[in-house]
Amino acid sequence: MAQVTHGTGTQVANHGGGVHSIKVPIPDNPLGHTLVHLVDTDRGPVLIDTGWDDPVSWDTLVAGLAALGTAVTDIHGVVITHHHPDHHGLSGQVREASGAWIAMHEADTAIVRRTRESEPGTWLDYLTRKLAAVGAPDDHLAPLRAARSGGRLRTLPGLRAALPDREIVPGELLDLAGRRLRAVWTPGHTPGHVCLHLEERHPAGLAGNGRLFSGDHLLPGISPHIGLYEDPDDTAVTDPLGDYLASLERIGRLGVAEVLPAHQHAFTDAGGRVRELLDHHEERLTGLLALLATPLTPWQLAERMEWNRPWEQIPHGSRSIAVSEAESHLRRLVKLGRAEAVPGGPPVTYIAA
Ligand SMILES: [Zn+2]
Ligand SMILES: [Zn+2]
Repeated sequence: MAQVTHGTGTQVANHGGGVHSIKVPIPDNPLGHTLVHLVDTDRGPVLIDTGWDDPVSWDTLVAGLAALGTAVTDIHGVVITHHHPDHHGLSGQVREASGAWIAMHEADTAIVRRTRESEPGTWLDYLTRKLAAVGAPDDHLAPLRAARSGGRLRTLPGLRAALPDREIVPGELLDLAGRRLRAVWTPGHTPGHVCLHLEERHPAGLAGNGRLFSGDHLLPGISPHIGLYEDPDDTAVTDPLGDYLASLERIGRLGVAEVLPAHQHAFTDAGGRVRELLDHHEERLTGLLALLATPLTPWQLAERMEWNRPWEQIPHGSRSIAVSEAESHLRRLVKLGRAEAVPGGPPVTYIAA
């Protein structure tokens, strides 16, 4: 009789050179899983991202570590690409079990701190106010107002996220004994997103400059969400899409042999994928300019943009995310001088310049 493997056989992969990955499921999410990477160091294994905070995800992570001949209690450190719950969700539990340190870029650590400290209603109040200002109709705002008064606030992800105890400093090598892992700041998807460049010869001899743990910044078949940085306390007009495009070019210049992303699968030709994404956003910006021949609120623009399904079928929460994506594109167009805000409002409207 075959030995019971608890299904972990397909959950782990060996990428060579002391790097493995574990597919940690994200419950009820079309992304399916987070690829948690394990990097061997002379002081013990280090995780890159940890996965969603859910018992099934935790069990999969623990079983995956066992399948790789280690244990969660042996983890020496945790390096987080960005604060999102599918990457940072289990970090606190890993630290509790192992005493590992947790490292994150300070811009994302600031978000974790703010989310932990803010009164739960603050975020919903901010979101409701913001969506109204960009032209969201009452039927979209009503469920948010109902959630505010109904006390369904504690279920928001990230409220219990672990506060990191180390800072990832852009451009510097992380303190990993026996490894050369350099932090590359890649803001855009979040303000403190980092990619981690493993500056070591590719274990299979692939040509190129080492390997890159790319988080959500560079994925083989998905264009990551670029919204606004959404800081209720900060009125600075940021340009996340501009940051993202500059970060893509920065990654393209590294000339890595292989990319180990946090979703989907490992891939080569990072430069080709960077160009595809740059072209995709350029096409999208051009398409939006055509729509902005008449003044539109960000909400109206989102309704008219192309998504992976018709607007009518996009659920409520995803519409809020879609409109922030429309806004990030508007910010970019305004910054490039290709669109401008029309005086008047609220809600604010934009037109092609
Ligand atoms: Zn993310
Ligand atoms: Zn992700």
